[in-house]
Amino acid sequence: MSRPRLTVLAGPTAVGKGTVAAWIREHHPEVWLSVSATTRRPRPGEVDGVHYHFISGEEFADMVRRGEMLEWAVVHGRASYGTPRRPVEEALEQGMLPLLEIDLQGARQVRTSMPEARFVFLEPPSWQELEHRLEGRGTETEEERAVRLETAKVELAARDEFDVVIVNDDIRRAAEELVSWMGSH
Ligand code: 5GP
Repeated sequence: MSRPRLTVLAGPTAVGKGTVAAWIREHHPEVWLSVSATTRRPRPGEVDGVHYHFISGEEFADMVRRGEMLEWAVVHGRASYGTPRRPVEEALEQGMLPLLEIDLQGARQVRTSMPEARFVFLEPPSWQELEHRLEGRGTETEEERAVRLETAKVELAARDEFDVVIVNDDIRRAAEELVSWMGSH
């Protein structure tokens, strides 16, 4: 069998990447899910070290300076998010199936630094559905939502850059399609 390759899951904002990733975390222990570092505050129910490593802006900048991020980006002009490089390399060395759930800017950086990775685009069933999900989340202000919507429009146009497109019509179905695709490619 060939060496496992890194899989990157990206897609427009609010498409449900995080929810699909959470489903995989719970149901597919054979998939190794990267834990990103972020400077944003934890939401209720989020656990440090499980959902994210919640760190300060200073700590984040230090990690970037030391070359410890595989990729990183400022998302929605608000907070920094990045993938710590070492755990990903270790997961690859140990033959695990690593999965990164990141934004489009980060996916493009991984394509440059790890061209052998595979890229999966998660798409909403329709634009209306995406708008609806963005409103339903209720964790952002009106202004933040407008910024996210604008970002989502640009991000939707990027689907052609990806190896495969998965429609998130149902979390469980989309997650299963992703895991089975990871196992067969
Ligand atoms: P949230 O704040 O809702 O958890 O995530 C906001 C956005 O940040 C999502 O689109 C998510 O994919 C992205 N994101 C999470 N972790 C990373 C990361 O390590 N790198 C990059 N580039 N984006 C990330």
